[in-house]
Amino acid sequence: MTKVYLRKKIAPRIANGHPWIYGNEVEKIEGPVEGGEIVEVYYGDGKFAGKGYINPKSQILVRLLTRKHEPVDEAFIHQRILQAWEYRKKIGYTENCRLVFGEADQMPALIIDKFNDYFVIQTLSLGIDKWKDAIVKSLQTIFSPKGIYERNDVPVRELEGLPQHKGFLTAPFDTNVIINENGLKFLVDIENGQKTGYFLDQQDNRRAIQHIVKDAEVLGVFTYTGTFEIHAAHYGAKSVLGLDISENAVAQANKNAALNGLEKICRFEAVNAFDVLKQWGKDGRQYDVVMLDPPAFTKSRENIQKALTGYKEINLRGMKLIRNGGFLVTSSCTNLVSPEQFLQTIDAAAKDARKKIRQVVFQHQAADHPIIWGMENTNYLKFLIVEVTDK
Ligand code: SAH
Repeated sequence: MTKVYLRKKIAPRIANGHPWIYGNEVEKIEGPVEGGEIVEVYYGDGKFAGKGYINPKSQILVRLLTRKHEPVDEAFIHQRILQAWEYRKKIGYTENCRLVFGEADQMPALIIDKFNDYFVIQTLSLGIDKWKDAIVKSLQTIFSPKGIYERNDVPVRELEGLPQHKGFLTAPFDTNVIINENGLKFLVDIENGQKTGYFLDQQDNRRAIQHIVKDAEVLGVFTYTGTFEIHAAHYGAKSVLGLDISENAVAQANKNAALNGLEKICRFEAVNAFDVLKQWGKDGRQYDVVMLDPPAFTKSRENIQKALTGYKEINLRGMKLIRNGGFLVTSSCTNLVSPEQFLQTIDAAAKDARKKIRQVVFQHQAADHPIIWGMENTNYLKFLIVEVTDK
């Protein structure tokens, strides 16, 4: 087996548990280098570091799968998926959950979402893509699923020399699946929805709005399929307006409202949030609760400043629409913006909007997307509720 030797002086990151090895951290390689193959990795002093898969096309040369001297084969993959499932059961996420969250489950670059009896997978690197058949087999053994679908239509795969692709990994099935969440029904479009079809990472946060929306007039911005908005209606809001730039999202949100008998309370509009929020601020429109769940305004470190400007602007405009004593519910889903940076941005927006804020809750993604300390990319979602009062 090919052996990769690390430089003597490398950051303690790898020894501390981080699975990524960059090309410039490697001293020498003994043996053939074939993209996607399993290699052994050794520290500069000759000590065994672990086993992982290599890809010379990627900036991340090796991603470690194990720290033990054990075979990496189908049985290994099955064991890892089984462990991920046992963990989800232990922490109480079973019906719908992120079954495998990549690095946080020691399966770098693998995402598996479970929507009751259906599974959506993403193999985002060459080294894990090679195990796709084994992954499907393992899911079939553990769950006897009604269907498995691949959503590998993601640009990040191209950095690994992989094509973008989506399709069935089992016999074809109806890709419009209905899931239950917090006692509500939602349609998940596995084939054409965003990412894997549904944002499971906000499932606990959607419950966090329960008390503040009672009898409230609610505005939800970046609604996608209307999940937060339909929760608001369910928890007793007087009226809910949801906005999204995508017509398709609005159509789905309307379907979801009807599915729950809440179509009289929820209304959705396809508009550009930046434009309408600015205008409505000028018009003096007011809401009791404004909810914002924007997309990641950046995917690269170079654009963090631009992203922060975007977050500040949308939060400032949102706050201006809140009645004295109302609430702002706001999220950021990129790990490139740290929790501290996010809070500072909200603070700056409040100052510019001449509002005083008081923190109600500040939390992360749901626990089925575990956070590993020291692996920044696992700590990505910020979810904040603040009370907003006039200065
Ligand atoms: N709250 C949703 C997820 C939102 S994802 C949930 O819990 O499922 C972000 C959404 O913002 C996407 O649906 C996207 O279409 C929408 N979006 C992006 N830019 C926008 C803009 N300028 N105005 C309105 N919506 C926008």
